[in-house]
Amino acid sequence: RENTALPRRAVNHGAAERVPVSISQRRRRTVVTGGAGFVGSHLVDRLVARGDEVIVVDNFFTGRKENVLHHMENPRFELIRRDVVQPILLEVDQIYHLACPASPVYYNLKYLNCLLNLYDYKTNVMGTLNMLGLAKRIKARFLITSTSEVYGDPLEHPQKETYWGHVNPIGVPLRVRSCYDEGKRTAETLTMDYHRNEGVEVRIARIFNTYGPRMCLEDGRVVSNFVSQAIRKQPMTVYGDGKQTRSFQYVSDLVDGLMALMEGDHIGPFNLGNPGEFTMLELAQVVKETIDPNASIEFKENTADDPQKRKPDISKAKELLNWEPKVTLREGLPRMASDFRERILKEVEGAFD
Ligand code: NAD
Ligand code: UDP
Ligand code: UDP
Repeated sequence: RENTALPRRAVNHGAAERVPVSISQRRRRTVVTGGAGFVGSHLVDRLVARGDEVIVVDNFFTGRKENVLHHMENPRFELIRRDVVQPILLEVDQIYHLACPASPVYYNLKYLNCLLNLYDYKTNVMGTLNMLGLAKRIKARFLITSTSEVYGDPLEHPQKETYWGHVNPIGVPLRVRSCYDEGKRTAETLTMDYHRNEGVEVRIARIFNTYGPRMCLEDGRVVSNFVSQAIRKQPMTVYGDGKQTRSFQYVSDLVDGLMALMEGDHIGPFNLGNPGEFTMLELAQVVKETIDPNASIEFKENTADDPQKRKPDISKAKELLNWEPKVTLREGLPRMASDFRERILKEVEGAFD
């Protein structure tokens, strides 16, 4: 594919002529929205290691500059503080669109709920629209990170990509995250419309629960909660009876899957997750075995509309992307715990400064 962007040197010297530069003659340019977040920063590490010129667009709403600090001196890396809700002009070959306020803890801040829900929706809808408009203009390939939550509280188990989902569009008190589920569903719709109507090359990933180093300590998701609680010697908070299930994917497996999807020939959607299924009580048990044998649990009330079961069927990704996760929960949790220990220690030391 020919790229008609001006080569850097021509721009710098004010050359008027537009010189087509083939992608094989220069480095691949990739933008990662949400690249200062948990998943995004691991993806950025891999893209930089591959030799890409990488631009991160992030407004640090839930992400942290620290996650990409180690690339700051690299001339092939650029960090732009910006909200994807605003239009942006860039010249790249690939767009990984991850930006989204994904952390559940923010939805539980009662007084901020209304604002945050609207913000989430705006990011998923207007942010995705802008990134698709960008992809259309510059003829870049576009990948969206959708979520298993598009399946809602599923009536099919495990979930295949052909399942249309069971989502409550208006939410109920205490379960205020329909903005997230429906926002991602709309983002998928927009993505397919830009593909069909505008010819944009698109890829759709439906990500299942993922964990690993650099997750936000106060994220509110179950793995980060249990691991930080165990390290802080606090009881692990099991919501409800703890018999609801999830499957947990280690972040490096997800990054492999996202890159295989972007480079492959198939649009998707593809489920990217680890099919190993655990109840929350079993997860607490694995944390006990791998992080602290003395860790205890306490039961707390669950939120309404909490999906009772979730497990991906990944046969489509196995067959068409030649991808499957490699890291088990027992291998992944200790890797995450060493990062969490370091950061919690810094927090404690900071408190005495
Ligand atoms: P994260 O919160 O760590 O990362 C999201 C990043 O997007 C953050 O750096 C945040 O600052 C940025 N961001 C949010 N709104 C923005 C905006 N309007 N403009 C610019 N930047 C913005 O979350 P994550 O876990 O790394 O998730 C990454 C993507 O993967 C998200 O799209 C999420 O919905 C999807 N996903 C993640 C999981 C998971 O288990 N981690 C599961 C399903 C889907
Ligand atoms: N857009 C952007 N960067 C670009 C091109 C488009 O942010 O390089 C935004 C644009 O501002 C618009 C959205 O993407 O809000 C959709 O663009 P499109 O061209 O599809 O729609 P139009 O501008 O014609 O409404
Ligand atoms: N959960 C829990 N304790 C916690 C946080 C979450 O038992 O401290 C439960 C929650 O009720 C849900 C499951 O863990 O059933 C996964 O929650 P998470 O927010 O991590 O992911 P999602 O609900 O988006 O799958």
